[in-house]
Amino acid sequence: MIVVSEPPIEKEMRVRKIVQGTVIDHIPAGKSLTVMKLLGISETTGEPISIAINIPSSKLGKKDIIKLENVFLSADDFSKLALIAPKVTINKIKDMKIVQKSYVSIPDQINGIVHCINPICITNKIGEPITTKFMVINRKPLSIKCDYCGRMMEGEEIMANLIFR
Ligand SMILES: [Zn+2]
Repeated sequence: MIVVSEPPIEKEMRVRKIVQGTVIDHIPAGKSLTVMKLLGISETTGEPISIAINIPSSKLGKKDIIKLENVFLSADDFSKLALIAPKVTINKIKDMKIVQKSYVSIPDQINGIVHCINPICITNKIGEPITTKFMVINRKPLSIKCDYCGRMMEGEEIMANLIFR
């Protein structure tokens, strides 16, 4: 019988350290590509991007991690992350050190991140682009209400109608 033992791998070794930029940690396993799309980050940004998928995590079982070199997130980005990955940790890196650790929370208002599913809502009128605006009615489970037509949306409905840049 042959016993194969895998050498222990340091978590930090899975993806290389970055000098400055952002590390988005504790992304639900398999959601990293959706996170990238939602943040409008792709290979066309020209900056090095490392993505690790299905990393063992004591907190989540499995998680994804994204490391973005020379990219810093905006408040708008934080709101987007709160919708699809409410448990993420955002580490701001400078000189290879974490200078700021942030958590996300769902804001009171969600603007321009979700499409309204009501086909006759003014925000869906062709040729007259209006930024969608939803009021957050409940955070857990998430339910939101269109400020223009009053339509309520929740859970998977929201996830299926995210606006990608
Ligand atoms: Zn609406």
